[in-house]
Amino acid sequence: MTAIEPDFDVVVIGAGVIGLSAAVAAAEAGRSVLILERNADFGQETSSRNSEVIHAGIYYPAGSLKAEMCVAGRHRLYEFAARHNVPFRQCGKLIVANGDAQSAALAGIEQRACANGVNDLQFLGQSEIAGLEPALNATAGLFSPSTGIIDSHSYMMALLGLAENSCAQLVTHCEVSEIRREGRLWRVVAGHSPDDSILARAVINCAGLMAASVAARIEGLGATHVPHMHYAKGAYFAYGATVPFSHLIYPMPEPGGLGTHLTLDLAGRARFGPDVTWIDDLDYAVDPSKKEQFAASVRQFWPDVDAERLYPDYAGIRPKITGPGEPAADFQISGPDDHGLQGIVNLFGIESPGLTASLPLGERAAALVWQGV
Ligand SMILES: Cc1cc2nc3c(=O)[nH]c(=O)nc-3n(C[C@H](O)[C@H](O)[C@H](O)COP(=O)(O)OP(=O)(O)OC[C@H]3O[C@@H](n4cnc5c(N)ncnc54)[C@H](O)[C@@H]3O)c2cc1C
Repeated sequence: MTAIEPDFDVVVIGAGVIGLSAAVAAAEAGRSVLILERNADFGQETSSRNSEVIHAGIYYPAGSLKAEMCVAGRHRLYEFAARHNVPFRQCGKLIVANGDAQSAALAGIEQRACANGVNDLQFLGQSEIAGLEPALNATAGLFSPSTGIIDSHSYMMALLGLAENSCAQLVTHCEVSEIRREGRLWRVVAGHSPDDSILARAVINCAGLMAASVAARIEGLGATHVPHMHYAKGAYFAYGATVPFSHLIYPMPEPGGLGTHLTLDLAGRARFGPDVTWIDDLDYAVDPSKKEQFAASVRQFWPDVDAERLYPDYAGIRPKITGPGEPAADFQISGPDDHGLQGIVNLFGIESPGLTASLPLGERAAALVWQGV
């Protein structure tokens, strides 16, 4: 009897930064790779709805995957961007504190950063902050010189180009509905006709917000290996005037997010956000009535903000695997050694700093898929 041959070595589900990075890693390792994406193009979901910040790796618990992958990913991302002409700027960021309690909390943030190997934070007093950013209202701050910004669309285009150079293929308008066992292979069904399916040795589930719902459709995967997803929406308001800042400005972190911060894009445009709103359904609308709330948050570090110049911009949704009031979860990369299915890797909870961490995360997923094979 002749063995059935697969159509591809690896099917990657989802063409966000993580799926594209995993596809590059697998294709450059000589595997044949097919990327399936439900939207009309790559990067239409969380990967294009974020702050585009290259994070230093400051806040995450020591020893966590988030810390490890963020620090490693940051170095890799700067190198990648320089090598592949992806626009970026290492502009640095200031975490600002107001009052004694917040100033004291800065020390905790610095300690955590050091434990993650981020040793370049500089503590600034009120006068030093005034020298750096005169329009800021802050009694103390931490300056992170290794934080930066990147053009996430160009980054994804570069990843896709590399994957395609190594013969990976992207198929869009293709929503995976089922992953069935077929001997030692996996039949990945996309669409409704039995013809709309691909036979692969391995499947990497990088479906972001839908990762748990895709995983639930993998034949033989125990329910204990599929986390419950929680969605935390983050809305942004843009500012219709030049802002008097040249660094990213972050307040103290808040539960569920990093606080309503100021980010600049590469053209120098300013936006504030993201806030945190727990939602049940995926909905990207930005509520214009939040303008005053945003103005109040921003006023804490920039008293001269003109609320009339704030306007609703876009929103992103954090794919969380713990809910409101629960401790933040780590990234979860679940491979054969965890769930017992050869050739299957699921990535869950890839919220921030997933963009920064995307290169090592994709590589780890692409390597894990061969565990036990
Ligand atoms: C508000 C916000 C701000 C953030 N800011 C930053 C930041 O400044 N820096 C940083 O490092 N990180 C940031 N992040 C995190 C970062 O954006 C994400 O970690 C990263 O984009 C996740 O990429 P992904 O590929 O896992 O998901 P996605 O980009 O969502 O990609 C998943 C893809 O899977 C596809 N898909 C889903 N289901 C199916 C299916 N059944 N079949 C086929 N395709 C499917 C989707 O269409 C989508 O294209 C932020 C996140 C949010 C929400």
